[in-house]
Amino acid sequence: MGTIEENRHLEEADKNYVWHPFTQMKEWLTEKPVIITEGRDCFLKDMYGNWYLDGVSSLWVNVHGHRKQEIDDAIRAQMNRISHSTMLGLSNVPAIRLAERLVKIMPSGDSPDSTTSPPEADSVRKSGTVPQSPLNKVFYSDNGSTAVEVALKMAFQFWIHKGVKGRNSFLSLKNGYHGDTLGAVSVGGIEIFHSTFGPLLFKTYKAPSPHCYRCELDASYPDCGFACLRKMEVMLREHSSEIAGVIMEPLVQVAGGMIVAPPGYLKGVRELCTRYRVLMIADEVATGFGRTGRMFACEHELVVPDIFCLSKGITGGYLPLAATIANEEIYNTFLGEFKDLKTFFHGHSYTGNPLGCAAALACLDIFEREKTIEGIAPKIAMLESFLRDIAQLDHVGDARSKGLMAGVELVKDKSTKEAYAWEEKMGWRVCHYAREKGVFLRPLGNVVVIMPPLAINTENLEQLMKMIKEGIVEVTK
Ligand code: PMP
Repeated sequence: MGTIEENRHLEEADKNYVWHPFTQMKEWLTEKPVIITEGRDCFLKDMYGNWYLDGVSSLWVNVHGHRKQEIDDAIRAQMNRISHSTMLGLSNVPAIRLAERLVKIMPSGDSPDSTTSPPEADSVRKSGTVPQSPLNKVFYSDNGSTAVEVALKMAFQFWIHKGVKGRNSFLSLKNGYHGDTLGAVSVGGIEIFHSTFGPLLFKTYKAPSPHCYRCELDASYPDCGFACLRKMEVMLREHSSEIAGVIMEPLVQVAGGMIVAPPGYLKGVRELCTRYRVLMIADEVATGFGRTGRMFACEHELVVPDIFCLSKGITGGYLPLAATIANEEIYNTFLGEFKDLKTFFHGHSYTGNPLGCAAALACLDIFEREKTIEGIAPKIAMLESFLRDIAQLDHVGDARSKGLMAGVELVKDKSTKEAYAWEEKMGWRVCHYAREKGVFLRPLGNVVVIMPPLAINTENLEQLMKMIKEGIVEVTK
């Protein structure tokens, strides 16, 4: 903790010099910023010594808690060797070891010759040398958006190498979110964030969101027979010759409002991609690393995509690192002579950063040693029971979850599902209430997001849920 003057200086300097992401700065300037100085387990400490439960895993990244000894030690040990060297023309030990580890845990589907991969992947299996999953080529970058940019460019160039012309577009989902760089925004589907940039974006086809609570097709699951998938199928039937790939967030459209797809939807997308011969890109930047109750969301439906995007939890929430993992069929199309210009001309300064990779290896060790995935089952059950209870409140329209990620959607009128106006800031008000009581949350519009580190203990989870309930009751009364 600093002196009163030092603290005051930091508050002023923050306002004078820092431009915060996704933040209306005019509002920020009227508020007292919470400045974090320390973390421990699932808690954050501000410079006045107040502790906050980290209810959103520091924006969905933290997995095993803050100051986790093994990750701290792994980073320090790596720092004593080297903190960074380039992957352009060189390699490094943690990046190699991590690629090997990631490939071993990629979703492998139900059987080696299942029909869940497109025909392009067949040659890979026939070679007999592949590991369990056909996803076995790891391309590093440093954040979720770049993981997605890499995936899009890879998919686009894959078709060029195959000699297939005209695959200049992608199919993505309404309410989808894949990051803030322009390629990722092009495949995004959240009006409020993305529409401003319309003139800068490339063309995409947008399929309906699998949003059962607010179905745009006015259908209801399961009687609908997956009307949203049928609509996607029509688009693919008409336009697959223009489409390089389908990109989607498996099981949960996270930034779109924690929209949980009904069971079978993900598998249905995989089948359509196979049938219409387009690549399937799974963006597991937010759902990966245990959040849904399995290591990866795709495992719930035995789906093997063609390109897989990871970031956020990959380092346990410590350092910026991302990986885009492709199958060998895709990788092989990029092989050629130097003069052929088949090279994937993409790479970032901090690609494959050794500190990040060392943290990621330690993070995976903890998953194994502590049996993190098995350990969260009782917490998932607690969360689900809480959501059933909270769903009874007058202004809770929908309380949905998958694993340890949940969203509570507040509505003005429960019977008509009428939403609160954006400017009423209902989600924000609940989060503000919780913050005053020592719980840090950040909403998505009218949806209160619950996404604690997987390491949260049951006592703290209970505290988190109690605050949310109290906050909702207080704000909506
Ligand atoms: N994909 C998904 C599914 C995400 O939720 C996010 C970030 N919230 C991103 C991509 C972008 O990640 P980053 O913020 O690290 O660029």
